[in-house]
Amino acid sequence: MRNSQGGGLGNVSMPEWDVIVIGAGAAGLLCAIEAGKRGREVLLLEHSDTVGKKIKISGGGRCNFTNIYTNPDNFTSSNPHFCKSALARYTPADFVALVEKHGIAYHEKKLGQLFCYGSSQQIIDLLLRECMDARVEIRCGCRVLGVEKNDTFRIETNQGSIVSDSLVIASGGLSIAPLGATDFGYRIARQFGLQIEEPRPGLVPFTLTSQILKRWAKLAGVSVYALVGYDGQQFRENILITHRGLSGPGILQISSYWEPGASVSINLLPDEDMLELLMRNKSSDTELVNLLSRYLPRRFAQAWCDLYAASRPLKHYNGRELEEVARMLHNMQITPSGTEGFKKAEVTVGGVSTTELSSRTMEARRVPGLYFIGEVVDVTGQLGGYNFQWAWASAFAAGQFV
Ligand SMILES: Cc1cc2nc3c(=O)[nH]c(=O)nc-3n(C[C@H](O)[C@H](O)[C@H](O)COP(=O)(O)OP(=O)(O)OC[C@H]3O[C@@H](n4cnc5c(N)ncnc54)[C@H](O)[C@@H]3O)c2cc1C
Repeated sequence: MRNSQGGGLGNVSMPEWDVIVIGAGAAGLLCAIEAGKRGREVLLLEHSDTVGKKIKISGGGRCNFTNIYTNPDNFTSSNPHFCKSALARYTPADFVALVEKHGIAYHEKKLGQLFCYGSSQQIIDLLLRECMDARVEIRCGCRVLGVEKNDTFRIETNQGSIVSDSLVIASGGLSIAPLGATDFGYRIARQFGLQIEEPRPGLVPFTLTSQILKRWAKLAGVSVYALVGYDGQQFRENILITHRGLSGPGILQISSYWEPGASVSINLLPDEDMLELLMRNKSSDTELVNLLSRYLPRRFAQAWCDLYAASRPLKHYNGRELEEVARMLHNMQITPSGTEGFKKAEVTVGGVSTTELSSRTMEARRVPGLYFIGEVVDVTGQLGGYNFQWAWASAFAAGQFV
């Protein structure tokens, strides 16, 4: 830390840093570490009382810190190519190496998702230890009141004024305000005239109309393996019917792509050819509900038949009716009334437009020295460790240049 002469305040001297990072979440911590390792003097500001609150609760307390199959296709953005460069330069193997360096035990739960065996606090401790080694100074409980740019950035905080050559915004998205989420990053982007892709909740449960909820009341609590689709995106994962609507990984995944008013398709038996199966049993005494119960939870099969196809022996259905049953099982169309919003969303879709940023450095093209990393940027990962991988990768990219 150097001392500078504060322009606006006459000759008052102000502490000056090479780099100030705002937001001590996944992205801010890693960026501070990388910049510190390069010998930069780094100050990391966090308005909450502790760092890494989302890391702490992530992955059910065990932090799904990356996904070994990370690929640009796992991300949504107005520019799907933007994430490629950063993801290629900091891979899941790079973060795994860090986890192993700190002796943290981990395992693959499913589909390439890596979790700590112990607690997600281990990841926070890892990052804090690396910050210490890289001589990063961290200040919690620090509220930023304003940012100005001349040759350098001048940041007014509740703990005084500070100056830096580079300013990194790592303040995350809007999901789950009690964990520290604010619109700070978007406000700074607007202040500097940068475009924002409208932020909206992602990885979020759907709500349903009271009419549908009433009809589905008996299904609440049932989970079914399904293929959920919308606008060319498809996910084979469980869906969960709740008292308020639909949740479960398959629904959370598709919610990041869904647009209000549209319907999503649900294939309840993606691994079966139901028409062929029903036709094969066309002359049997087996009741539809019993046949379906071989492939679906009985409670679900029963409720589904009550709602859509009053169960009777299969021999009592004609061909057209069986075709209709098969069609409804393979292509149920549901129109959500909305989502549970930022209160329940795991991520924010949208954010600082990638057209404003260099994909190599995350620096704003029109504002030299200003960087945006992590969830505040219009790059959103699917469920399964991809959002942390984007946080690490974008942070690493900026960390080499700030
Ligand atoms: C319940 C839940 C579980 C999740 N589980 C996983 C998972 O297992 N795997 C995965 O990949 N992703 C998971 N995610 C998503 C992941 O947590 C985020 O994508 C990731 O934390 C984004 O990192 P970030 O550093 O950009 O933002 P954040 O982690 O949100 O960090 C932003 C930081 O900035 C601070 N901040 C905000 N405004 C200001 C301000 N004005 N001044 C100073 N500081 C400020 C915040 O307090 C926060 O500490 C989960 C999210 C939630 C909500």
